[in-house]
Amino acid sequence: LDSNTFTDESKIVIDFIADYYKNIEKYPVRSQVQPGYLSAELPQSAPYCPESLKDILKDVSNSIMPGLTHWQSPNFFAYFQANASNAGFLGEMLCSGLNIVGFNWISSPAATELESLVIDWMGKLLKLPPSFLFSGNGGGVLHGSTCEAVVCTLAAARDKALKRMGWDKITKLVVYASDQTHATLFKGTKIVGIPSSNIRSLPTSFLSGFSLPPQTLQEAIENDIKSGFYPLFLCATVGTTACGAVDPIRELGEIATKYNLWFHIDAAYAGSACICPEFRHYLDGVELADSISMNPHKWLLTNMDCCCLWVKQPHSLINSLASDAEFLRNSASESNNVVDYKDWQIALSRRFKALKLWVVLRRHGLSNIMYHIRSDVNLAKRFESLVGTDKRFEIVVPRRFALVCFRLKPYNGINGLELNRRLLSAVNESGRAFMTHGVAGEEYFIRCAIGSTLTEERHVNELWKLIQDKAQTILANAAT
Ligand code: PLP
Repeated sequence: LDSNTFTDESKIVIDFIADYYKNIEKYPVRSQVQPGYLSAELPQSAPYCPESLKDILKDVSNSIMPGLTHWQSPNFFAYFQANASNAGFLGEMLCSGLNIVGFNWISSPAATELESLVIDWMGKLLKLPPSFLFSGNGGGVLHGSTCEAVVCTLAAARDKALKRMGWDKITKLVVYASDQTHATLFKGTKIVGIPSSNIRSLPTSFLSGFSLPPQTLQEAIENDIKSGFYPLFLCATVGTTACGAVDPIRELGEIATKYNLWFHIDAAYAGSACICPEFRHYLDGVELADSISMNPHKWLLTNMDCCCLWVKQPHSLINSLASDAEFLRNSASESNNVVDYKDWQIALSRRFKALKLWVVLRRHGLSNIMYHIRSDVNLAKRFESLVGTDKRFEIVVPRRFALVCFRLKPYNGINGLELNRRLLSAVNESGRAFMTHGVAGEEYFIRCAIGSTLTEERHVNELWKLIQDKAQTILANAAT
């Protein structure tokens, strides 16, 4: 690693990336390659001699680019976005450039202390109660994903309960969530050794806006207690993946408190919106939760990856996840006056993600981040109103954030499912835009998730025109 080569080659790579962004609209948004395409293009073993950066970038252009789905394209409306920004990129460069490994305080004191500071900043932006902040009695940590955050909180909840009840009771622990909850919870539950049959995926309906009715939770808990189970964990979601539904946090929290459940809030996507006063009410009742997580890498201008997890009782996490190898021992840790983040996560090694989030928060400031969220929400409103002008379409679930769930109505005896599948394929195969589908209850719909940093009103207008054109052909075929 010598700094002259580093400067020269980094500049080349930065120019390459800048060029990519300049031309990003020229690529088909969703990759159009076939499975296995890459092995036909690249050698099957690593080179013995070094190759030039020029040759590598040529291969990136010719072989890798065609196999990319362009998540930063302004015409990317699929899943939820992985927002990027200059600040996020610069923060990421600093993070990989310095390349420290902050597993405990002594391994890089600034990494730990900045993380504790920046997670408190984020908590304050979300107006979390002081009990979740280091400046209160709680604290937070940056994980790579919600999945990791959920596994860690489940492990903490499990160990806290089993310590009290006896370790043989693991097969009796029950986890509750709505049927709209992200699959990550179900995966996490299995990972921590709780049987899949003990996951209660509680029904939601169109009537409840696909949020979890408190009564349904209460009844499920009562039934389980009667059958000899131990209610352990409740996960509520603010902004579900399929349709952006919001669970009633306060009412669910009161039930969780009554039955002594660990209450986690997954705000992976919509947590970012909650920094705006007009969306903050979705978190009302958060003081009843034990933990809450959200992903700045989805909608807070922070390049992948970054997930904030706050807990009220850090010692519950630490009791479950602490590791104690001889080579890690040091007097700072033994003083108990420092945070050792290795004990708040699964892995030992960890990146300096706090630097990235810190740069993002400082370079954008709250005002610009709120502007960014509100612009996306306004674009989503625009798309929603365009859908409303065409009688062949309908909005399926009321829009809350920047996700619009819509579909073609059934036509000429062809059901909505079939028509909307055809429409989605036609749009995605065009390469001009990429959307994905959602299912809630019996309803199949197309999701238009707005949130790419480069998306402007003209992209939303063009998307709608594309959808209308493809729908025209599909309906014309259906008519014959
Ligand atoms: N929870 C919700 C509500 C999500 O929308 C997602 C991803 O879209 C996740 C969890 C999974 O997040 P991660 O990929 O960070 O594990």
